[in-house]
Amino acid sequence: MNVPFLDLRQQVVALREEFEQGFAEVLDNTAFAGGPVNIRFEEAFAAYCGTSEAIGVGSGTEALWLALLALDIGPGDEVITVPNTFVATVEAIHFTGATPVLVDVDPVSYNLDPAGLEAAWTPRTRAVIPVHLYGQPADMDPILAWAAEKSVSVIEDAAQAQGARYRDRPAGSMGQLGCFSFYPGKNLGAFGEAGAVVTSDAELAKRVRMLRDHGQSRKYYHDLIGWNGRMDGLQAAVLNVKLPRLDAANEARRQHAARYSQCLEGAAPQLILPRERADVRHVYHVYAVRCPERDRLLDAMRERGVACGIHYPVPVHLQKAYQYLGQGERSFPIAEAVSREELSLPMFPELTDEQIDYVCSSLLDALKVLGMTVEDRPADCSNQPTA
Ligand SMILES: *Cc1c(COP(=O)(O)O)cnc(C)c1O
Repeated sequence: MNVPFLDLRQQVVALREEFEQGFAEVLDNTAFAGGPVNIRFEEAFAAYCGTSEAIGVGSGTEALWLALLALDIGPGDEVITVPNTFVATVEAIHFTGATPVLVDVDPVSYNLDPAGLEAAWTPRTRAVIPVHLYGQPADMDPILAWAAEKSVSVIEDAAQAQGARYRDRPAGSMGQLGCFSFYPGKNLGAFGEAGAVVTSDAELAKRVRMLRDHGQSRKYYHDLIGWNGRMDGLQAAVLNVKLPRLDAANEARRQHAARYSQCLEGAAPQLILPRERADVRHVYHVYAVRCPERDRLLDAMRERGVACGIHYPVPVHLQKAYQYLGQGERSFPIAEAVSREELSLPMFPELTDEQIDYVCSSLLDALKVLGMTVEDRPADCSNQPTA
């Protein structure tokens, strides 16, 4: 059996007619850059996130950058985030002219550890960007409380967490601004590059809208120095088809995660499974396990026909381009351990139980071959005792 890490084809096949109808609407009204199809998506996505506004932009990276610019963050300012994120989080901070300041993550969720914020703070700290890594929201209440006390803004990097919830609040709705990516592989993915900023602050929404459109207050009147950061009409048409299906797709991911966990729980002492906080709805953009010998395990899985991923092999502070950040007094032992040990198992809504069972039996077999202690188990996950 071959199990891909991600299969985007199945949803394209299943919804092809609806996509084509959506494209036809864009062609018919030639709304290629903005227009009614984009407005419909922005309204639907704001409602989905429980915010008063959503502003479609060109990518998740751009969403983060424009959110920072909307807060007037720039040279001389500092913005706190984590080292184990996709590099775009730090990139966006860099390109405002502000200085990224990193804090380590907690060892259970791999998300920003609120206990690290105080030591990272200086009078120049303007914002903190928690990343809802792998689809699990960061522990937002202590982050929000600390930020409010320090008059620091909170921008959520919810690029991996469309539809996730923290204590019943939607990801993206808790900070001053929430940023989403609709890169094709994300839980809500376009057919190219797209992103969105959500907020319930009317003034910030207005600034993001202007910034993504050359700083215009009306056509050819530029009140701010802006940028071209608009979402294409064709991408909005795709997202309008997929958004109503996002909850079902996330539910499928959650069921796959539960099957993985049921199959693997307790099977090998050196294998650490994802741990879901009791107060969140994790949407499993990534099902991330940890294990020593990760690199050999990745190869062994490939030999067994299972494509796995690594998110991410090098934390930001050890990337060549970001050496200038230096580590100063700070160290990031958890982020570094995760970068050495994390392995992402195949995850997409259309995954079958048979594929999941094959991934699990392949993983246990590979661990055994690599010399680790593994309990003997039947290959059918539904026979495992519930953890
Ligand atoms: C994907 C991603 C981004 C960037 O989004 P793009 O749409 O690819 O620009 C930012 N942050 C995180 C955590 C991501 O996973």
